[in-house]
Amino acid sequence: MRVVTSISEMRKVVEEQRSYGKIVGLVPTMGFFHQGHISLMHAAREECDYVVVSLFVNPTQFAPGEDLEDYPRDLSRDVEMATEAGVDCIFHPPAEDMYMQPYLTYVMVEEITDRLCGASRPGHFRGVATVVAKLFNIIPAHRAYFGLKDAQQVQVIRRMARDLDFDIEVVACPTVRESDGLAMSSRNVYLEPEERKAATVLHRSLQLARKLVAEGERDPEKVTGDMHALIVRESLVEPEYVAAVDWDLLTPLDRLEGWVLFALAARVGKARLIDNALIEVKD
Ligand code: AMP
Repeated sequence: MRVVTSISEMRKVVEEQRSYGKIVGLVPTMGFFHQGHISLMHAAREECDYVVVSLFVNPTQFAPGEDLEDYPRDLSRDVEMATEAGVDCIFHPPAEDMYMQPYLTYVMVEEITDRLCGASRPGHFRGVATVVAKLFNIIPAHRAYFGLKDAQQVQVIRRMARDLDFDIEVVACPTVRESDGLAMSSRNVYLEPEERKAATVLHRSLQLARKLVAEGERDPEKVTGDMHALIVRESLVEPEYVAAVDWDLLTPLDRLEGWVLFALAARVGKARLIDNALIEVKD
């Protein structure tokens, strides 16, 4: 497997593969791999001839005071894991090349970025959309793979790709969980043992939503209220939001119907964790 740090070399590698008629797959990541990342690499490996994983802790998606400096990093372990997963190339550019100063151009996806995580992390999705647009330009893949663990991010990227005419298929892959249900995340390393145990309430609250919907509950406030009540029973977990929104535009719902995203964010010690469940409500 090759590791490329230069933008121009990365472009050349992909152009060459495309000139051979190869289908190129891209998996954008911030590294510190876990099985969630590996599942995206496997999906890309199955469907594409040449798989590029980008590994870049993107400074523009972190607000001042967030965990940019502390974000876990382990390049040599990541290289080993990606090699094992059958990845062809890791793109690991320096931040000063991705954001040559003065850097003045950003991609803003409107409306769907104002809600959920966008409300508590202003500017976050501007950073995400910008870096993904740059990656799509540097690595003109046929397909790009994202995890539904970050469901809002998937919808932001899909919208951006559609609105800006990127000729890249955005593929969404299911959330990979620990055996007790906790969604895998690079940030789980921040959790102390007691917090790690308490954090399973997030997944349990999503299971509760699934159960209430299956029993016929159609009032979004009743379901999110019960989820919230369950979460706050864990004193180490402080919910930031618990919401039921329409899957397309992430707007609040009066009634649960169609594809509904139940999404939540919570503080657990030093970690800010998110999780969600996408549920089709049929009547
Ligand atoms: P990150 O390195 O956290 O930016 O994540 C890189 C990609 O992996 C994103 O598309 C995430 O949605 C995806 N991802 C992160 N955690 C998981 C998970 N537990 N299951 C599936 N995909 C995930």
